[in-house]
Amino acid sequence: MTVRTISQIGERGVWQKRAACRGPESVLFFAPTRPESRPERESREERAKAICGDCPVQRECLEYSLRIREPHGIWGGLNETERRMLWDPTADLTETEFLET
Ligand code: SF4
Repeated sequence: MTVRTISQIGERGVWQKRAACRGPESVLFFAPTRPESRPERESREERAKAICGDCPVQRECLEYSLRIREPHGIWGGLNETERRMLWDPTADLTETEFLET
């Protein structure tokens, strides 16, 4: 799985320079390469979403991630499953992968 941080993706807009997730805490926004239990994932996502909650560009980030259908990570305060539900309200989520140990 290739994980891209906001600073690594294309369409480098001004908003990305104001992202609250830049820096060492960016690791919270994507699943680690090792197995992650459900409690670990929930804790990590909760911490990431708290950062999003104070981010000055949350709206721009969420709109961008929905537009490109970014499949991984926390963007705009939502995880991939939550965003997928906004892509298509009738989407079948039975194939959604959850990392559990
Ligand atoms: S909304 Fe969250 S993921 Fe998006 S730029 Fe801000 S802190 Fe980063």
